[in-house]
This record gives sequence, structure tokens and C-alpha cells, in this order.
Amino acid sequence: MTPLENGSVAAVADVEPGLPVDVLRRVFGYDAFRGEQREIVEHVVGGGDALVLMPTGGGKSLCYQIPALVRPGVGVVISPLIALMQDQVDALRALGVRAGFLNSTQDFDERRMVEAEFLAGELDLLYLAPERLQSEATLSLLDRGEVALFAIDEAHCVASWGHDFRPDYLALSALHERWPKVPRIALTATATKATHAEIAARLKLEDARHFVASFDRPNIQYRIATKNDPKKQLLDLLRTEHAGDAGIVYCLSRASVEKTAEFLVRNGIEALPYHAGLDARTRAANQARFLREDGLVVVATIAFGMGIDKPDVRFVAHLDLPKSIEGYYQETGRAGRDGLPSTAWLAYGLQDVVQQRKLIETSEGDDAHRRRLTAHLDAMLALCETIDCRRVRLLAYFGQHSERCGNCDTCLTPPESWDGTVAAQKLLSTVVRLKRERNQKFGAGQIIDILLGRKTAKVIQFDHDALSVFGIGTELREAEWRGVVRQLLAQDLLAVEGEYGTLVLTDSSGEVLRGQRQVMLRREPERPTRTAKEPKAAQAGRKVPVDLPEAAVPVFELLRAWRAATAKEQGVPAYVIFHDATLREIATTVPSTLDQLGTISGVGENKLAKYGQPILDVLAGQPEGTEADDTH
Ligand code: ADP
Ligand code: ZN
Repeated sequence: MTPLENGSVAAVADVEPGLPVDVLRRVFGYDAFRGEQREIVEHVVGGGDALVLMPTGGGKSLCYQIPALVRPGVGVVISPLIALMQDQVDALRALGVRAGFLNSTQDFDERRMVEAEFLAGELDLLYLAPERLQSEATLSLLDRGEVALFAIDEAHCVASWGHDFRPDYLALSALHERWPKVPRIALTATATKATHAEIAARLKLEDARHFVASFDRPNIQYRIATKNDPKKQLLDLLRTEHAGDAGIVYCLSRASVEKTAEFLVRNGIEALPYHAGLDARTRAANQARFLREDGLVVVATIAFGMGIDKPDVRFVAHLDLPKSIEGYYQETGRAGRDGLPSTAWLAYGLQDVVQQRKLIETSEGDDAHRRRLTAHLDAMLALCETIDCRRVRLLAYFGQHSERCGNCDTCLTPPESWDGTVAAQKLLSTVVRLKRERNQKFGAGQIIDILLGRKTAKVIQFDHDALSVFGIGTELREAEWRGVVRQLLAQDLLAVEGEYGTLVLTDSSGEVLRGQRQVMLRREPERPTRTAKEPKAAQAGRKVPVDLPEAAVPVFELLRAWRAATAKEQGVPAYVIFHDATLREIATTVPSTLDQLGTISGVGENKLAKYGQPILDVLAGQPEGTEADDTH
């Protein structure tokens, strides 16, 4: 309507303001708010400040997008995720929302155009990198326009001891001083009490209303397996349960990222590496492919993933032990944002415990820092070794309650526990004898060889077959002994020391040796555990959502092919067109009119106008492009 509008903006329909629930239906195509979304939206629309803690996939974006559309002015979103802004803006434009961004990836002309749109009131949402707010030019730009609200996304970046700390975020506390009347909403998926308190204090949100959602992610199945041949175990998981699915595999080191990605590719799985050692262009290209294409696997260090809002990540696998439950929960939370069934799988073994303990011992920083790292690791280990429901333990860590979930490995195949007191005593006394009689320390391998009475070269070299404990542990298999060592380490009844990971006693070991303390252990599985889940859907190597009726599968595949072609043509990720959940509903209900199609969740007005007819054509089996159609 003004001469400033360029082609791409003109293609975007104006969104009429209205009641929040109308905007939800018309623009986003959703029937109802989820959880506390309605209260949060109404509170911010009314001008209140809010601090929102909600798990990944909980629906945080709507909490600021809808108020931005309802309130006069432009919603300003502060986000550290520069690489993802283009996709976020594309997704909003596909809905008919007038969105733009300002960050360092743009040249002068692009920035000037967005600034002009902002000043002319032609934007609903403006995404800003936090460092922009350091410049007076940006601040005075905001002064000259009308700001509907400030949304501070990934608000945990302001927490100084979290691993995502961004100094730029500290400056955000000044927003309120300069624009006291503009409501602020800060959002994060990090839930611990410490982080919560720090965000509130640093962003001066003590008087804001705090919304703390349940952190449960019921569609994610949590599984922690004993590690024996991790790459093979992973391949097995992908082949039997996740053929053709998009997923993320986390490894600790760059080298293991590279090796694992190569291994998967050699075995016919499309996998891309991602770590800080790759050049920026390769990293960006791999991330873009993961977002845009269907069914790719990214093998990555934890450098990958923050803000990745790809909704159809079907699994997150960890080949190494995460350092904390916070990290584990954030990483696994990237699975299943669309609410469909997803897997969080972790392989964990004795070597992980030894390695992590060693890392802490040699880490920089003072004792208090090391104690904190140890506390984080101990909580993670307790989760791995628990015989309770994993979800109950996870949520308890965040101070929330849950019943046994029926959707984690310990619920599905309850592990047995056994009284390992005698085994623990045998193992600990072997450590004691070596120290007392020989003044020696050894790692787990040698201790287990002694217990099993194996005359290995190293046993003979050190004359260990002469020890009274030689061969006293033949009732257990080697794997079981490794389990005993691992669990004693996890329970702090045994410790590792030094470069070689030698085993030493802890302050609590004595209680076990004196028979004052019972040691309950988790039984090691004979073979790696398989889930109860039926892998039938994956047999043909196709991706079939779990509860899609058999008859709807071919239609779903047609719709997916149409979506892939359309996404490619428009240069946007497939999920920007429609989410899997939406395609699934279309394939199941097979609407025959635009009106019927418009009632499906995820089909708003703009998408109906743009994609409605092509979808009906696909459903009617008409080849595309048969009608004279030159709207693109
Ligand atoms: P978060 O930012 O909290 O991780 P998102 O805002 O990306 O979550 O939302 C997760 C998914 O849920 C998205 O696919 C979004 O479109 C969908 N969603 C959010 N709110 C609703 C709702 N009220 N009804 C249906 N789907 C919703
Ligand atoms: Zn459970």
C-alpha cells in the first residue's frame, strides 16, 4: 500500500488484529490454546510483563506472536539465533504475518528497507540480534517507531553460569528503563530454580508474572542403554525404529562426530557432521540441509541445536554421557516438538564415568567449581542407574511431580535390582589388598581380571595370581563386573584417579566393607535391551507416523512428495509449508472442499488460500500443473 512495499512483502496478506483466539484460528489455524498460552497471551496483551518457563515444543512462540498481532505496534523479538532468523521470518510470512529481522548477515540496503518498514508500521514482528541493542542507532530507531512488546527469547542466555551465556543479554535489563510502558516477555526452556531466579534478577522481572509450565514431554520415550558397541547399537536403533527419520546424534568429541557420521553413511544412512572444528560455511550448509530436507541425520557435538525449531526431529541419540541433566534434557527436548512419538536414546558405559570424572579432576577453576560439576554428573549418573521411571526422576530434578509414565525403558521393561553387597565387598577388598600389600593402584580392567581369576600376561607380570582375592569373583560375568564398577562409581562408593583412571576408595567405601551398608544394583541385561515398540512401520524403509491408518499411508506419501517439491521451489524448509501432523490429519480425513480443509489443525487462512487447491488436487489424484496457474 505504500511505495516501500517490495514484492515479497506485497505477497503477504495483512493480518487484521482481533481477539487472541480469533488470531489463533485465522492466522495459525489452531483450534484452542494449549496449557497456559491463553493466560500468558492475555496478560501480555493487557500490558503485563511475563517470565515464561516452558519446555521445548510447549508452544512459546505463540505467547509473544499473538500479543504482537493484537497490540498496536511492532513486536520486537530479541533472539541470539541469527542463523535461524531467516527461517523464522519465512515461517511467519507463510502464515501471512508481516515479519522482518535485523542482524549482521544483512547488507546496508536490506537493513534500511526493514527499518523503513518498521517505521511505517508495516511489520507485525521484528527479530533483532541482542548486540543490535548496544548501538544508539537501533535504540533511536525503536524510539521513532511503535513497539508493541519486547520478547526476550532464549532468556537463559542471561544466566552467567549456564553454558549458553551471552554478555549481550545483560544489556537487556535496560529495556524497561527506556520504554517503561512496553510489556516484556522473557521465555526459556531451561527450568532449574537457579536459572529461573537468575533470569528474573538480571532482567529485572521480579515483578513480572511468572508462568511455569509442566516440563513433561509425554511424546518422548526416554531410554538409557548399556553401551557395548555403541555405533552398532545406534545403527540398530535407526534401522529398526527410525528408518528415514530426521534425528540428531550427539557425541562428545569432534573426532567421534566425524567417525560416527562416516560410519552411518557407509551403512546407507544420510548423515552430516556438525562441530566447531568445521569451517563456518560447511556448518551453515549442513544445518540448512538438516532443516530443509526430510529425514537427514546430523551427528554433532553439543555446539549444535540451540533454537533449532525443526518440529519433526524423531530421535535424539547420545553416544556419550551428558555432563548434566539440564544438558541432557535440553538436547533430548529437540525431539518431537510436533507432539508425535519420538525417541531419546542414550548409550552409557563404565568408560563414560571414568572419562567424565577425569575431565572434572583436570578441569580449570576452583574446588567449588569442581564440586558443582561433580554434583551435576552425580545427578546424571543417578538417572542412568535408576530402576524407577526415568520421567519421574527427570521431573523430580526440576522440582515437578509425575506418575510412572509407561513410556520409558524402565516402565516398559522394568529392570531387576539385586543385592550387590557381597560383590561390592569383593571388588573393594581387591582394591584395598593391592594398595596395602603391594602399594599399587590399577584400573577396572586389571581388577576384574583378578576377580575372575584370569592369568593374563599383565596378571602374571605383577604376580597378581598370588593375591588371596585372585579368582574370588567367578560367579559374575565380565560385563556384570563392569556394571558393578560403574554403579559403585555412580553411587560414590568407588572413585577414579589420575590419568590412567585407577580405582581408589572413597570416604563411604568403608561402610560397605564393614557390612554397615547394603548395596542395591541394577541387573545388567544379557543382551542389549530392545523396546517393546513395534518397529513394523519402518520395515519398508519408509517413514510412516506411528498411528497413521494403513489406508492413509499412500496419501500421506503423496502429500509429502508435494510438500518437498513446493518447499524446494520456494526455498523454505518443508515444515514451513505444513507440519507432519497437519499432513497426517489431511491424509486421514481426506477433505474434498476448501472449507473442510480449512478446519484441519495447522491450516490457517493464508495457507488455505495459497496451498488449498494444490492439496485438493493431490488428493483428487490430478497431476500438478494441469490447470492454467501462473500465480507464482
Ligand atoms: P517452543 O518455542 O516452546 O519450543 P513452539 O512455539 O515452536 O515451541 O511450538 C511447538 C509446536 O507446537 C509448533 O509446531 C507450534 O506450531 C505448535 N503449537 C503451539 N501452540 C499450539 C496450539 N495452541 N495448538 C496447536 N499447535 C500448537
Ligand atoms: Zn516411565
